[in-house]
Amino acid sequence: MQQTVHLQPAQAYQAPRYKVYQHRQIDKIEQLDKLPEHLRFEMKVVANVFPFRVNNFVIEELIDWHKVPDDPIFQLTFPQRGMLDDESYEQMAALLKRSHTQDEVIELANHIRHKLNPHPAGQMEKNVPQFQGKRVEGIQHKYKETVLFFPSQGQYCHAYCTFCFRWAQFVGKATRFNNNDAELLHSYLSTNKDVTDLLMTGGDPMVMRTVKLRKYLEALKEVRFDHIKTIRIGTKSLTFWPFRYVTDPDAKDLLALLKELVDAGKHVSIMAHINHKQELRSEITKEAIRLLRKTGVQIRTQAPLLNHINVDANMWSQMWQEQTQLGMVPYYMFIERDTGAKRYFEIPLYKTWEIFRDAYKNVSGVSRTVRGPSMSAGPGKVEISGVATIHGEKVFVLRFIQARNPDWVQQPFFAKYDEKATWLSDLQPAFGEKKFFWEDEYNSM
Ligand SMILES: *Cc1c(COP(=O)(O)O)cnc(C)c1O
Ligand code: SF4
Repeated sequence: MQQTVHLQPAQAYQAPRYKVYQHRQIDKIEQLDKLPEHLRFEMKVVANVFPFRVNNFVIEELIDWHKVPDDPIFQLTFPQRGMLDDESYEQMAALLKRSHTQDEVIELANHIRHKLNPHPAGQMEKNVPQFQGKRVEGIQHKYKETVLFFPSQGQYCHAYCTFCFRWAQFVGKATRFNNNDAELLHSYLSTNKDVTDLLMTGGDPMVMRTVKLRKYLEALKEVRFDHIKTIRIGTKSLTFWPFRYVTDPDAKDLLALLKELVDAGKHVSIMAHINHKQELRSEITKEAIRLLRKTGVQIRTQAPLLNHINVDANMWSQMWQEQTQLGMVPYYMFIERDTGAKRYFEIPLYKTWEIFRDAYKNVSGVSRTVRGPSMSAGPGKVEISGVATIHGEKVFVLRFIQARNPDWVQQPFFAKYDEKATWLSDLQPAFGEKKFFWEDEYNSM
């Protein structure tokens, strides 16, 4: 006997309702006439030192203006008084109040920037590889299996994050165009067969038009790149300019390019920077996520823990859960790097660990793909695994989740517990040791 099963017809997918914005850039405090005068002056002082740039979508949909200045997305995109130390702030404020030339402002700004460790973690000296006898600008190769690539046309972002460790590359210099960099990338990758991962970063590579992205990525389908198995693209666009995937003129072509790479057997991962769950609330972002996932790419999420923005374990667990629900994979919680306005955003290490743990313990296993809290320091990515008391000594338990020497990975090591420490360089070895196990080797690299 045959049984008839009556299936309900599937609901047709209904695209969510969203407003389409024409991109408008806001990069002058004068454009913000609604803010109180004293706030605008403070922001103007700080904006002379740190880059500032935001767009109309972020302003109209992501910021809750009645919460300003405490709104997290406002803190994330607009320069804040506390980002400068008092002395630097007063110097710049005094200069702006008297008659001055633009050159004087630039000179003072450069003087202040110079004090702010513009190139952290030996990025300039240690990570740029030699190739055919020359330094290859635009490539960093720190960890054996992964090449970081900075396409020359992707060295800015839809909006600048106030905490960004790349702040120094956004100020001063005019963008250098290097039209051969796709070729350089391809020859570097094709001759380095140990490399399995390419990580496109910036700035934000998704500011580039699809035709340009294609110049870098399409070739990776060729046989000479069979060893490149994973392509990651780091971007803030998913929440700060989601139109990139939905309504921009070349959005469809971008999705097609990603699908081609997936179909050619690559694992393609969009590494989405998402600092606060408020960034996920717009319908257009949800539509962008849906369209991206349809191509077969994976979306992973990462963000640093930042004072004034996301010091809230509940928010983190809700954010990870929501990301998981939307089909994204939580990947990293970072510790704010030792550069730029760190003084404003930093959190003591013990506190970063408490927040991570409180957030992590409240999500199910499917969201516990996230790792951290992690410092991207000179020797590698160092995770604060815990705080413990061993033979009466209170210590931080640490481990490398990524290291310049792969043999250091996963070996626990210990530092004296210190409530003031905010970075690896503040830590001392525990148990009376003089050095951490990796220090001599690191210093000789
Ligand atoms: C984080 C990072 C990577 C990627 O490391 P994974 O452990 O694969 O996420 C690669 N290069 C640099 C310089 C990094 O900081
Ligand atoms: S999007 Fe990323 S690279 Fe761009 S300013 Fe923000 S943190 Fe920096």
